[in-house]
Amino acid sequence: MRIALIAHDRKKDDMVRLAGQFHAVLSRCTLMATGTTGGRLQREVGLAVECLLSGPLGGDLQIGARLAVGEVDAVIFLRDPMTPQPHEPDINALVRACDVHDVPCATNLSGARLLLQGLIVE
Ligand code: PGA
Repeated sequence: MRIALIAHDRKKDDMVRLAGQFHAVLSRCTLMATGTTGGRLQREVGLAVECLLSGPLGGDLQIGARLAVGEVDAVIFLRDPMTPQPHEPDINALVRACDVHDVPCATNLSGARLLLQGLIVE
């Protein structure tokens, strides 16, 4: 399972906690993340994560491009709905690509937990 992980700044603590709680299942997956999110997951959770560009510099687009050619199986994207993001078009493009290609995309903590619990059951 190839999972992409992205968290906006005010959601990064949540992502770190979530990844710690699901460390066992995540460590069996191939992980990629936008730069800052991935760095924190490496340092604070000890997961092997491929770090792409930071989101505002094109990281969401990199993930979207991989997803479009079948290289991403699920996305956990903890978005901050209360803060305008400079790369809003990139965020929308990634979520749209998930819908176009029917790739599961969790955009909040509850959805992310359900998605990861589904992987444990598999
Ligand atoms: P970051 O990117 O992990 O590099 O902060 C996430 C984002 O803001 O889209």
